[in-house]
Amino acid sequence: MLAGIFGLSLAIALRDRNYVVSVFDRSQYDENGYDPTADDVQAASADHNKIFRASYGNEIHYQRLALESRKAWVLEDEKRGFSSGDIDDKRLFVNSGMLRVQPSDHLATLEKETLANMQRDGIRDTQFVESDTADCERAERLGWKHKLLHFKIPDTPEKTYEAVLDTLAGFLRCSNACDHYREVAVAKGVKFHLGAEAGAVESLIKVASSVEADKEKVSGLKTKDGAIHNADIVVVAGGSHDYLSPYCADILQLDHSQRKYFLT
Ligand SMILES: Cc1cc2nc3c(=O)[nH]c(=O)nc-3n(C[C@H](O)[C@H](O)[C@H](O)COP(=O)(O)OP(=O)(O)OC[C@H]3O[C@@H](n4cnc5c(N)ncnc54)[C@H](O)[C@@H]3O)c2cc1C
Repeated sequence: MLAGIFGLSLAIALRDRNYVVSVFDRSQYDENGYDPTADDVQAASADHNKIFRASYGNEIHYQRLALESRKAWVLEDEKRGFSSGDIDDKRLFVNSGMLRVQPSDHLATLEKETLANMQRDGIRDTQFVESDTADCERAERLGWKHKLLHFKIPDTPEKTYEAVLDTLAGFLRCSNACDHYREVAVAKGVKFHLGAEAGAVESLIKVASSVEADKEKVSGLKTKDGAIHNADIVVVAGGSHDYLSPYCADILQLDHSQRKYFLT
């Protein structure tokens, strides 16, 4: 397992269910703190911030997953006593809102699908369509109106792009979040092997499958320092990079359209 946000989340979830969990990562996160400018940091999760949104057109499962994760982020900030009123704002999730500017003066299909699904889940009132008078009045009442910006469509002085203000959205301080969750994982007893030697996965160890003839199963991994680590289950949470693919191409289905690895 690797120490991006996916690996960290899974490590904590498994540890909470009493699994013995080890996380390997070639980056020395305990020293660099997921600093995106550090030389040995190359992970999508290591960044100053990234957008949080639950607007996914007709893909309502993503909407629901995103809302579930939003609750978890808000709860984590509350648990740590961080709020929007702090002078030194240390929240992991900042509910700044997000303006979805449309490509023309009317709502695009994707936007209509998003709004329909938000209606379906009872959260349409968190969305504010610029051309909708009732939405604008509600935005004014709730103090969001100043974020409902108007952008002129070039060469059409009268017209502005349609836009939807999403007040559920915001951004995550993702390097801070990873650093925090690494500490949470350590406190819960997850063992970390970090760095270019002890943490870098060189290959996966394979043995004959005891269930399916002529097939192999992964029984552990080898790190760059030559150490072999055996495990009942190996999860590869390597993000969208291809670092690991040369070592396990024969057992992974690489879906390059989605940039995801599926362990088979
Ligand atoms: C430019 C960009 C912008 C994005 N913007 C957003 C956004 O605004 N909102 C949003 O929700 N999502 C966004 N995403 C997607 C999101 O960042 C990723 O889905 C998420 O961070 C992936 O996390 P991960 O843990 O799967 O992978 P990663 O964060 O990439 O972690 C993979 C880890 O594997 C380690 N590793 C790889 N190979 C090895 C090896 N051989 N040995 C040891 N360790 C290894 C790496 O060091 C790294 O720590 C964006 C992604 C990118 C690239």
